[in-house]
Amino acid sequence: MTPMIIDGKTVSAAVEIETAARVASLRARGVIPGLAVVLVGDDPASQSYVKMKERDCERIGIRSFDSRLSADISQADLHDVIDGFNADPHVHGILVQQPFPRHLDVEAVVARVSPVKDVDGFHQENLGRLMRGLPGHRACTPWGVMRMLDHYGIELKGKRAVVIGRSLLVGKPMGLMLLERDCTVTYCHSRTVDLPGVCREADILVAAIGRPMMIGAQYVREGAVVIDVGINRTDAGMVGDVDFAAVAPICSAITPVPGGVGPMTRAMLMSNTAAAAEIQTA
Ligand code: NDP
Repeated sequence: MTPMIIDGKTVSAAVEIETAARVASLRARGVIPGLAVVLVGDDPASQSYVKMKERDCERIGIRSFDSRLSADISQADLHDVIDGFNADPHVHGILVQQPFPRHLDVEAVVARVSPVKDVDGFHQENLGRLMRGLPGHRACTPWGVMRMLDHYGIELKGKRAVVIGRSLLVGKPMGLMLLERDCTVTYCHSRTVDLPGVCREADILVAAIGRPMMIGAQYVREGAVVIDVGINRTDAGMVGDVDFAAVAPICSAITPVPGGVGPMTRAMLMSNTAAAAEIQTA
C-alpha cells in the first residue's frame, strides 16, 4: 500500500494564508495584532523556536513583543512581566516558552497569563473550556493535528483513535479534540499493558511520546492513519516517534518528520493570535 503523505508544509501554508487575511482585516480597522513572547534563560532550542515564531509574526503582519529574561529571574518578577503584558492593550497573545528553569512553578506561570491572551491554550480555563465543549484557545499542537486531518478529509466520526501520550501540552487535549469529533478514544502511556495490541485497534493512531522511532509495524493495523507528533534530535538528525520506513507501507496515511506536525504548531499559534485579537477588539 502506498500511503497518503499528510504534508504539514502544505496545510500550514493554507492556515498561514487564512491567518494573514484575518490579520489584514484587523489592520484595516486599525488593530495590529500583537504577540508577546517571553523567554526565560538561554536554552538554545527554545531560543531558536522563539526566533522562528518572531519571523512568522513578521511575515503575517503580527507585531511581536519580545521579552528575554535571565534564567535566575524570581517567580514574582516573572509574574510582573506577565502582568504587564496582560494589561497592555497592544498585546493580544502571550506565549511563555517552555521548558522553564526548575526553580519556577510552571503551574503558577501558566495560570498567570490572562486566559483570553493564552494563545498556547495551556491555561486551566482554556483546558476546562475544551473539556466542557466551549469555545476557547486550543493547544496549538493537537489543534494543528485536527486541522491536518480535516484538510485531508479524513473521516473521524465513529473511528477508533488511540493517543499514545497523556501530557497536558499534547496527549490529553489531543484525545479530547478527537472525542469532540466523535472518535472512540483510548489513551496510552508508559504504564499501558500490551501497547502494541492496543495500538493495533486504532483507525487513527497518534504518537506523542518522545521516543525516537519507537512505533514500528507491530503497532499499526493495516490501513490506519498514523500521526507522528514526536520531535527527537538524534545523531542521525531529527526523527519522530514512528519508524516511518517500517510503518508507511501498512498505513493509509502518515505524517513525516520533519515536515508533518511540526510546522502546524507554529501556524496554529499565529491563527490563535489572530483569533485573540479579533475577540479582544470585537
Ligand atoms: P511528555 O514527555 O510530556 O509526555 C510523553 C508521554 O509519552 C507521557 O504521557 C508518557 O507516559 C508517554 N510515554 C513515554 N514513554 C512511553 C513508552 N515507552 N510507552 C508508552 N508511553 C510512553 O512529552 P510531550 O507530550 O510534551 O511531547 C511528546 C513528543 O512530542 C516529544 O517528542 C516532543 O518533542 C514532541 N512535540 C512536538 C511538537 C510539535 O510541534 N510537533 C510540540 C510538542 C511536543 P507517562 O505519562 O506514563 O509518563
